[in-house]
Formats: sequence, C-alpha cells, structure tokens
Amino acid sequence: LENLLTTARAAADRSSIRPGNLGLILRCLREGGPRSRSALVQDTGLPKATISTLVTELADLGLVREGEPERGDIGRPRLSVELDGRTVCGVGLEINIDYIAVIALDFRGQTVFQDRRAIDVPAIGPDATLDIAAQLIAEALSTTGAQGIRTVGVTVAVPGGANAATGTLDGSVSLGWHNVQIIAPLRERLSVHGDIPPITLGNDAHLATVAEYVAVAGAGIRDMLYVTGDVGVGGGVYNDGRTYHGSRGKACEFGHMPINPEPVPCPCGRLGCWETMIGLRTLLSLAADTGDPIQDPWTDRSQRLAELQHRARNGEQRALAALQEIATGLARGIALLIDVYDPRLVVLGGYFTQFGDFLLETVQRTVDERAFSPETAACEVTLSAHGFDSTIRGAAQHALEAILQDPARALAASIARRTGVSGVQSS
Ligand SMILES: [Zn+2]
Repeated sequence: LENLLTTARAAADRSSIRPGNLGLILRCLREGGPRSRSALVQDTGLPKATISTLVTELADLGLVREGEPERGDIGRPRLSVELDGRTVCGVGLEINIDYIAVIALDFRGQTVFQDRRAIDVPAIGPDATLDIAAQLIAEALSTTGAQGIRTVGVTVAVPGGANAATGTLDGSVSLGWHNVQIIAPLRERLSVHGDIPPITLGNDAHLATVAEYVAVAGAGIRDMLYVTGDVGVGGGVYNDGRTYHGSRGKACEFGHMPINPEPVPCPCGRLGCWETMIGLRTLLSLAADTGDPIQDPWTDRSQRLAELQHRARNGEQRALAALQEIATGLARGIALLIDVYDPRLVVLGGYFTQFGDFLLETVQRTVDERAFSPETAACEVTLSAHGFDSTIRGAAQHALEAILQDPARALAASIARRTGVSGVQSS
C-alpha cells in the first residue's frame, strides 16, 4: 500500500508540476534565446534528467528543436535548444473605431497572416461589425490551416471594459456600446465553418502592453509603462513582470485623468480628461479643418496620418503647431504617471509612435527635468516596437499564452481548418 500511495503521489505531483515546468522552459527560451540543456539546468534550477525529459516532450509537441551545436569551454559540443512552434499560431482580432484588423502569429512571434478593413464601426453597429470580425477570423483560420498551422486560440481586443468571464464588452465610450455580447455571437457565426478554437476577450490597451513587454523582456526590463494614442488614450503597466489589471480589470484608463486645464467635454461625460488634450481626434482637429482629407473616417487612417506626417516634414506651420501642442500635453500626463508608477521605461504607442520625431524630445526633456536627483537612474522614454499593430500582436500573443500555461492541453484544444475540404476528407 505504501508503494502504491507513493506512486500515486508522484504521479499527481508530476501532473501538476509538469505543465508549469514545460512553460518555464519555453519562457526561458522566449526571453533569453537559444541555449544548451545545461544552460537550461542552470536557468531553471531543475535537475538535468528532468530537463532532458521536458525538452524531449516539447520537441515532440513541435514547440522546440535542437539546433546548431554550441561549443562549451571544454568537452564535446552541446546541442542548443531553441523555440520552434512554427506549426502553431495564436490569432488576434482588434475591433477599433475606424477599422477591424486580424493577425496570426506563430509561436516564434512571426506573422503568418494579417488583414485589416477600414470601417466606421460606431456607424455600422455591433451586428454588422461582428459579421466582418467573424469573416476575418475565418479567413485567418483557413489560411493558416491550409499551411498546416494549428490555431491554439483567438483573442479579441476591444476599446473598453472587457469582461473576459462573460465575453461581454461592458462599455466603450469611444464606440458608444454598452453591454454588448462579443464572444458568443462570434462563436455562433464561426461555427458554420467547423471547429472553433477557444476565443477570449480583452481590453485593447492591456493587450497592446503584452506585445510591448514581450519586445523588451529580453533586455531584462520588468517595470514598464505603456501609453498609447488612438481616438482614446490608454495604456498598461507591468510591475515586476506582471500586468496590472485592477480589481475589475479597468485599471490604466490614463486617458480620463482630469489634467486638461481647460474644461473640454470628454465622450466619457466628464470634463478636462487627458484624452481631450492628446487623443487622435484632437490632433486631427488641431491640424486641419473639417472636410480636409485627413479628417475623413472612410479613408484608412494610415493614409490620413501619412498625409499629416508629410505636411509636418515639409514644415507646414499648422501641422507643426498641432504636434507641439500634443507633445506638451503628453509630457504633462507622463510626468504624473512616472511619479505614480516609477517605471524603468515608458513606451509610447499608437499614433505617438508614428510622430515620435515631433514628440519624443519634449517628453524626454520633461521627464529628465523632473528626476528628483541626478543620481536617480533616468526613466527612458521610447517608441513602440509595433505602433498600431501592438494591440493585435498583443492579442495574438495573449492567445499563445495558453501554450506557456499548459502546452499539451493548448495543442489538444487547437484546430487546423483547411480551406474547402471540410466534409470531403472525412476519415
Ligand atoms: Zn474622459
């Protein structure tokens, strides 16, 4: 009996510890790059035999492979373990105010599919929006499936309070939507095409922060603040390597901090929010009159912003004055956020990235001036690695997180949907 109990306990231990340890190895490889099995022993503190078993298991799942031999100081060359995962992907979908976008990233972070439609989302409403969203997801699933890539999950990013448990958008000031079911109607629309991977919902700025964190985590940065400029202004905080969500998942609504000295009405119903100083609509209205092409919601925003950038580069006074006003407003809010969160790095995303040449210097100067002492390590302000793509990339990476939690289970729940063969190749 004693033996039996010991065996059962050992099995139970293995079953709870193993998914975590598999994830630990994948994280080490993702954040630190390829390394030998013995380096993995050092990094994780796990015994050599365990590392060996886990690496073999991950290789069988297609998530790692043993690549080029790595020469040690002495002895024979050691094989280096690296992330693979080119046969699995996560899909991110973003519902924004003037576009809907989709991306599929494989486990190495490479883009395997991307598409985007310019849409006036508030004008067409939830039903038509979800029709287009479902079409884009179906397109991503069939295109990746046709390449033999399995999708482990889909994460939908929305500009507002996202209730992940119910799959509902609680409210979005910028869309004017309240209590809108997102996940259930999407599943219903997608089910006509066949199997569906798990679908989850998240706040756009929190998801974008995931993408920015993944981009800097390799450099050892664990405390980071992300501020993104879109029609709304939002962001996220990483504290000691963890995202900060707040008690109801509504943290980091930076755009509604009441710091505009002018009592300008905000779509949220309050006056003088930061968003009224530095939101995209404010930039566009400062830079041009109504009727100007850069204010047309049916023109893709990348074209409109490229036009504004062109004007600023050519020294057009109105464009430059608009950007200077945005820079001053941006610096004002960031100085406040740095005092609150004490980050090592501030990343500017969304449209701020595109206009970095006109914004960064003013913001960094303000931050430096406010450092309490010259010895205090300065907080660095940088531009996003991905610009407007941060949200969809972060959503796809969030979907891929399922692999880090429990690789075997994530792959078991994944699907590979092949174009035009459903129902024909029944086995
Ligand atoms: Zn507001």
